[in-house]
Amino acid sequence: MAQHEVDIVVVGAGPAGMTAGLYAGRSMLNTVILERGAPGGELLNTEMIEDYPGFEHVEGWDLAQKFAAHAAKFGGNIINANVDRVKRLPDGTFETSADNGDAWHSEAVIVTAGGTPIKLGIPGEAEYAGKGVSYCAVCDGAFFKGQVIAVVGGGDAACEEADYLTRFGSKVYLIHRRDEFRASKIVQQRVFANPKIEVIFDTVVDEIHADAKGLVDHLSLRNVKTGATSTLATNGIFVFIGFKPNTGIIADHVDHDASGYLITDWNMQTSIPGLFAAGDVRVQLTRQVTTAVGDATTAAVAAEKYLTARRKDRANT
Ligand SMILES: Cc1cc2nc3c(=O)[nH]c(=O)nc-3n(C[C@H](O)[C@H](O)[C@H](O)COP(=O)(O)OP(=O)(O)OC[C@H]3O[C@@H](n4cnc5c(N)ncnc54)[C@H](O)[C@@H]3O)c2cc1C
Repeated sequence: MAQHEVDIVVVGAGPAGMTAGLYAGRSMLNTVILERGAPGGELLNTEMIEDYPGFEHVEGWDLAQKFAAHAAKFGGNIINANVDRVKRLPDGTFETSADNGDAWHSEAVIVTAGGTPIKLGIPGEAEYAGKGVSYCAVCDGAFFKGQVIAVVGGGDAACEEADYLTRFGSKVYLIHRRDEFRASKIVQQRVFANPKIEVIFDTVVDEIHADAKGLVDHLSLRNVKTGATSTLATNGIFVFIGFKPNTGIIADHVDHDASGYLITDWNMQTSIPGLFAAGDVRVQLTRQVTTAVGDATTAAVAAEKYLTARRKDRANT
């Protein structure tokens, strides 16, 4: 159990956290990036990235290594720690504690803890992730040009992404376990009007199967009303049944939307002064590496200005 005094704590070493650490470190602030696993975040679950400017193709793992080395070069030290609480103290500073009892005291915290797509939890899903199973249409849609795609879900995300995926796929099946969508009416209208989309209601996917090369080639389906089973030939399955932001570590009330994403101002500051958020954990239109690093740049620069103003105020009182 050790107590540390730093200027800025960053929670999470995904693209956002490592960028925040890089910028904070370059501002000569004593910065730690606390990460519970290996540095990289969702990059480590992404085989190939084709939409990060400057890299036509880069493996997720390789980009993660580059981010980590770059952050470390400028003083963004990545420390292995599973953060279980970020608490604002009465004087407006923060205590960030890890499950091993270590704690970091700082004047600002940048939360970049990301989130996790909710999984179907069926056989074949984990095994064929990145080999036909995806949770990100913007990231992976282009890999399925001219192919058959299945989408699972019934909310706005599933319907919007099914519509989006028709620009790549020859056909898109939209599979939903109920007999109607939860998506807003206008989004549903777009789905029903799209001749490339075939809706399969009252149906769940029981298993994902692959060919001899290990690439997804068909699904086992089951009608939840009749119990009838069938197979569906498809090259890809995109799962959009929800995304859970990792915000449970924040001890105090902080403004968030109905799905738990943190609401920030344009400086990436949350409703708690000195607590900033960047990347997938934040309310925003799209969740990409580019948006994560952009948010994090703003958050780190804003946190530096926040610290400078706070210290001036305190010196003058
Ligand atoms: C399968 C898949 C493919 C994708 N493909 C692409 C793509 O091709 N192009 C693209 O631009 N984007 C892609 N994305 C999206 C992109 O990966 C994310 O938008 C990006 O990683 C978000 O970065 P982040 O730093 O906000 O969060 P994350 O990458 O989720 O990183 C968050 C980090 O915080 C850590 N953490 C969480 N809680 C704690 C805690 N309590 N204590 C300590 N550490 C904690 C996590 O371990 C993780 O390392 C893909 C996403 C997925 C899921």
